[in-house]
Amino acid sequence: MQAEKTIEFSALPSVKDFCLTVPLYDRFEYDDDKANGFFELEQFEGTLDFHCPECAGHSVFSVRKNNYTSNSHYKNYVFSLLFYCSRNNSHRALFVFRAHMGVIEKIGQSPSVAELALPDLGKYRPVLGAERFKELTRAIGLATHGVGVGAFVYLRRIFESLIEEAHRLALSDAEWNDDEFCQGRMVEKIGMLEKHLPKFLVQNRGLYGILSVGVHTLSEKECLAAFPAVRLAIELILDDLLEEHERKAKLKSAAQSLASLKASGGRAEA
Ligand SMILES: [Zn+2]
Repeated sequence: MQAEKTIEFSALPSVKDFCLTVPLYDRFEYDDDKANGFFELEQFEGTLDFHCPECAGHSVFSVRKNNYTSNSHYKNYVFSLLFYCSRNNSHRALFVFRAHMGVIEKIGQSPSVAELALPDLGKYRPVLGAERFKELTRAIGLATHGVGVGAFVYLRRIFESLIEEAHRLALSDAEWNDDEFCQGRMVEKIGMLEKHLPKFLVQNRGLYGILSVGVHTLSEKECLAAFPAVRLAIELILDDLLEEHERKAKLKSAAQSLASLKASGGRAEA
């Protein structure tokens, strides 16, 4: 249950993750002995697909050709990747990195990680409600600045409230054992709610052992490491709820148009 509690990054994140989701000042080791341990990042020539604030939509960004001549020991070596929006050349995204003595970190970026992530989350607002939506955006904002425990507390609260919603549904199941549920740890609760939660979450419930651990015993690093898994679980649950929400909205509007059809004289089926 606690196996995945600490996820150490031994390798550098992919260029995409490093630019778009890794918080600023998160430090990664690179092989200092190699000619260039972060060659792939520094010399990146591909495209990235992300939200363009100026287009107010997703766009494909291409990197401007880099032509860096680095010194051999990478002491205080700062380099950047500048991307152009394929829709409009004046829309830019900039990511700045610093490499120093075998450690590389992202030291700046525009748009911010939160700006890149939030437009995708906006769709969940109707199923999450205003208060929890605010908490979710706050959690992501904190995590992007490396505030692990604070971010984790918000995320955990949202996760627990979604589990509680599933629990309320389960109460009407025939052989539901509520005492067992209430005494269970989070991993067991997820297992018992199998019918009311996304399959992926139930199958990977081992990842959520950390949710039964007191926040005061967790380090900033452990909270940041667990953050992506909890965020994913929340998004999966929300995807299901959103689907249900949209299905109901469609049924309602279908019922309304049928009713107005009838009212306007269609008496075929009296
Ligand atoms: Zn754009």
